[in-house]
Amino acid sequence: MIVDVITIFPEMLEEPMSASMVGLARERGILELRVHDLREFTEDRHRSTDDYPYGGGPGMVMRPEPLFRAVRAVQDLGPGTALVVFLTPGGDRFTQQAAHELSAAERIIFVCGRYEGFDERVFELADLRLSIGDYVLTGGELPAMVVIDAVTRLLPGVLGHEESTADESFSEGLLEYPQYTRPATFENMSVPEVLLSGNHARIAEYRRRQALVRTALTRPDLLDHADLSDEERALVDDVLEGSHDRD
Ligand code: SAM
Repeated sequence: MIVDVITIFPEMLEEPMSASMVGLARERGILELRVHDLREFTEDRHRSTDDYPYGGGPGMVMRPEPLFRAVRAVQDLGPGTALVVFLTPGGDRFTQQAAHELSAAERIIFVCGRYEGFDERVFELADLRLSIGDYVLTGGELPAMVVIDAVTRLLPGVLGHEESTADESFSEGLLEYPQYTRPATFENMSVPEVLLSGNHARIAEYRRRQALVRTALTRPDLLDHADLSDEERALVDDVLEGSHDRD
């Protein structure tokens, strides 16, 4: 996958996008990351990317001209046609499902905003507008990195085990079950006995139940779209009515 990022702070991406799995994906040639300085696409002496808002109000707005020039020039770099994604709090909520969908793209251009956001006309260039959550950050660089990280780990050959994303939170519309490692007892807290039993069927049953209970207690909204059997639906209904604890 080729990912282009358009930003006025290219240096922000250097370290985070070189470490861990994203760094590894780049080393392995699974991900090619190209970061472009929006100021290179300005034509005035001050290389300005913002201007005052029409109609008044606080802050500055990102000017359309450099953004149009940048997106078109980066798009022309090829190969093929990239999906153009603008990061904005007003966009569609980024989810694990969206990460899966984006992981099928061959090329993506991420456009990072700053100041009070984009001149509305730049969204003409967008295939997609994404928000990483209901809060406002100072710029689109962290959101772009969040999306790149979530997408990259889904690319074949990045994680050790292909199946290691299958059980994760959100993948089946549920939160993940609790995980433990050694020691079996730590400060009087013991790992549930079933996990030490070696009985794979019991372990799978325990984990499914834990995932259901945890999701019902913490994120019941996810259950609306989860694929549950009648028995599982009855269990989560019990939890939602308060007649079950986490065990
Ligand atoms: N005035 C804008 C609003 O209320 O929607 C907020 C602009 S924000 C200070 C500046 C830039 O940060 C945005 O253009 C966007 O690129 C990025 N940003 C901030 N919060 C974000 C979020 N939750 N998801 C995606 N991008 C975000």
